[in-house]
Amino acid sequence: MTSRYETGSDWTSVDVGSESPESSGPDFSAVGQAETLEQVASLVRNCTDCPLAGGRTNAVPGEGNPNAEVMFIGEGPGFQEDQQGRPFVGPAGKLLDGLLASIGSQRENVFIANMVKCRPPGNRDPAPAEIEACTKYLDRQIELINPKLIVTLGRFAFGRYFPGEGITKARGKLRMKDGRKIFPVLHPAAVLRREELRPTMIEDFKAIAGILEGAQEENLGGEPAGIATEAPKPAQLSFVDAPSPAAVSAPPAETSMVNVGVNVEEAPRPEQLTLF
Ligand code: URA
Ligand code: SF4
Repeated sequence: MTSRYETGSDWTSVDVGSESPESSGPDFSAVGQAETLEQVASLVRNCTDCPLAGGRTNAVPGEGNPNAEVMFIGEGPGFQEDQQGRPFVGPAGKLLDGLLASIGSQRENVFIANMVKCRPPGNRDPAPAEIEACTKYLDRQIELINPKLIVTLGRFAFGRYFPGEGITKARGKLRMKDGRKIFPVLHPAAVLRREELRPTMIEDFKAIAGILEGAQEENLGGEPAGIATEAPKPAQLSFVDAPSPAAVSAPPAETSMVNVGVNVEEAPRPEQLTLF
């Protein structure tokens, strides 16, 4: 899939201080030609294609298993992510870790990326032009990973595939778009703000496990998932054909559903991650 955005940006001077690379503007061909996730990440770290470059501490390209079956797409880095250069490492990330653990997975098995790779100041919403400038990186990451399933987190990532639709209505229903399976769920930060959404989020994560087992195939584009109780046992799930060395050596994931509700702090620790 090529980028949906053929035009470059209008920004001519973005002050990124000592980080400023030689390049003088967007180069869509470069990222299209990147052959590895590391190459994409390197382009992201040197990118000045939108004003968000000026405010970042670190770009956050995304990280995880290059052979992941499931890719999660969030909105954009927050404070912690900007500090560390890694996605979902703040409070929303802790919840995401717990949700993954609840279905027998962990971040080492999946790939986690964002719509925009640099933090919008004060955690404001990313602007349409910023999303447009950044989408080429996500496009290429998706091409390279070629996941079986894309899980969009929150309304911005959902809007990438289904602009104009509401996430509240769409969440929890498997869809097809551009030949890819898209499963929209709420954003973990929204669940942290509104505790009453937590059971819905847990249910939607159980459905992710079911989708990977093919349980939702016949529901494509149709009715709500409604298969939460049919999710396979967490122990059967790896989300990848062959576990990565990191996944093998990592401690077993906490599989208790209760854990998501009461103690996300016990989620698997991510220190063995491959960073991109
Ligand atoms: N929220 C997001 O959308 N992405 C992150 O990486 C962290 C919080
Ligand atoms: Fe480049 Fe994306 Fe960062 Fe904007 S948000 S500077 S397009 S990497």
